Amino acid sequence: MSANSANITARAGTDATDAKREAKLARDRKSSLAYYYAHKEELRPKRAAYQRRWRKANPERALELKRINCARHRDKLRARLKRYDELHPEVKKAGIKRYKAKAKLETLTHYGGGRAVCVQCGYSDLRALTIDHINGGGTKHRASIHGASLYTWLRKNEYPEGYQTLCMNCQLIKRVENGEHAKPDSN
Ligand SMILES: [Zn+2]
Repeated sequence: MSANSANITARAGTDATDAKREAKLARDRKSSLAYYYAHKEELRPKRAAYQRRWRKANPERALELKRINCARHRDKLRARLKRYDELHPEVKKAGIKRYKAKAKLETLTHYGGGRAVCVQCGYSDLRALTIDHINGGGTKHRASIHGASLYTWLRKNEYPEGYQTLCMNCQLIKRVENGEHAKPDSN
């Protein structure tokens, strides 16, 4: 027997063992699933607890499995989310509102130097705080981000330079001083 054919035989042997092992695993899996479904009510909380512990112990693998699962059932999951949104429009609306409010607060805080206050005068009422383009160009930029909120845009883009938190008063004063008051926010 040549070295080559010996190798092939050895490999074939391993393949056969692997196949046997796979078949046994499949049988075990099937019978344990059957057992699970037969005792579902009592086993479900135990299984959930075990899975929680497993996910905690194997965070990377858990994330990977989640990704695989999401990709595999993407259409189904999307349809389910869409159905939920249609049934509960108020939940979706509240979620968007919360998301925007959070983006606003975080962005104003970032450009306010760690606090959501006007960098000129320290005014802190969120209702009258805005993001100022330090070197102008606000209108053009707003148009270029296609109606997205400036707050969420800035946050998504990891807070680029060139912006500051100002109150409406200080922004107006800045415009007057720059001779822009006749055509607000048009530079
Ligand atoms: Zn101010």
